[in-house]
Amino acid sequence: MDLSVFDSMESEVRSYIRAFPTVFDTARGSLLTDEDGREYVDFFCGAGTLNYGHNPAVLKSHVIDYLAGDKIQHALDMATGAKRQFLERFRDVILEPRDLDYKLQFPGPTGANAVEAALKLARMATGRSTVVAFTHGYHGLSLGALAATGNQWFRQAAGTSLPDVVFHPFDGYYGDDVNTIALLRQHLEDPSSGLDLPAAVIVETVQGEGGVNVASNEWLRELRELTTEFGILLIVDEIQIGVGRSGRFFSFEESGIVPDIVTISKSISGYGFPMALVLIRPEIDVWKPAMHTGTFRGNSIAFVSGAAALDEFWADPTIHEQIASRVELVTERLNSIVARYPEHFSTRGRGLLQGLVGIQDRALAGRISKEAFKLGLIIETSGAFDEVVKVMPALVGDEATLVRGLDLLGAAVDAALA
Ligand code: PMP
Repeated sequence: MDLSVFDSMESEVRSYIRAFPTVFDTARGSLLTDEDGREYVDFFCGAGTLNYGHNPAVLKSHVIDYLAGDKIQHALDMATGAKRQFLERFRDVILEPRDLDYKLQFPGPTGANAVEAALKLARMATGRSTVVAFTHGYHGLSLGALAATGNQWFRQAAGTSLPDVVFHPFDGYYGDDVNTIALLRQHLEDPSSGLDLPAAVIVETVQGEGGVNVASNEWLRELRELTTEFGILLIVDEIQIGVGRSGRFFSFEESGIVPDIVTISKSISGYGFPMALVLIRPEIDVWKPAMHTGTFRGNSIAFVSGAAALDEFWADPTIHEQIASRVELVTERLNSIVARYPEHFSTRGRGLLQGLVGIQDRALAGRISKEAFKLGLIIETSGAFDEVVKVMPALVGDEATLVRGLDLLGAAVDAALA
């Protein structure tokens, strides 16, 4: 496999090519094929961008028809039929059945764009600047989003201080006995705590990049109560855990909380096309026209595939059972790995974002990912020390490929410990 042009031409900053050194060619469902014809099962899903697998067959014809008809592709944020279709489907399939009332904004193509918009809007809406973010959180790498991202590896790349964000311990950070929401309340109530009244709190219900750390429903409810009481806006970042990965469309649904602002990206287009979305409670939609704008704020092809994905997958109530049966399979297999090697692993996660945590040897997860690649499985690590194997298969697709991936994961674990 010739990778020389990547080495000679691309900036050193590239990352995944190092973990998976091959040239990928075709992709269907959860199977990738490289230029040598070698197959890989995908348990990475573009870090949560390919929840329905690669080139989902039920969405493809919508995309092809749109392109074949010379329909408008780029329109900044002018009105198009494709955008209308997406808005209507999002209202009818997602918001109304859940009794949710949000305005939608398309802040740019990436997750970081959505987070920037959320933080900026929260500051304008409240007239305050401090944001509370959580240890191990990841919200993107542009300056505002990076300020809310805990990991020093990423923060040092800014070469500057990242102001106005205060980090608070996530659920379980000090073990199960410390209620970190009670601590936050204490800081908010104590006039000498040094904590200015925040504009917003930003949180992932399950921290994907931070090591598959799960916030309990009770913790989320307490956070919602506290933020409401103090007039602090609650931003839930659904960029990785959203669009079904938790088992529900929005991961916050299970806890029953209703955030003030929700950021969505990755799998929302259903096809890997760049797209991001901010959901805003109508009363805090304070920006005036063209106050927060940009060139790529609505990609027609992403609207087309995104609307089709809502219809094909989310208008069908059996989607929840389909995901649940895959969660069962994955959990069973991860538990059997832990049962085989109890001194080496524990597991945690929600839905189809599961982590196999190396509890003694922090380098073990990295070795498993390497062995997996050799065997034909794409799987990533996460966590502060890259100590967690992040198991993220597609939400739908044939069970045989899922089982094949789980077999390969088991074999990679054996090889890494051999
Ligand atoms: N928030 C979360 C929870 C994420 O997982 C990510 C991406 N891993 C982002 C924000 C940033 O998204 P992007 O890489 O598209 O900017």
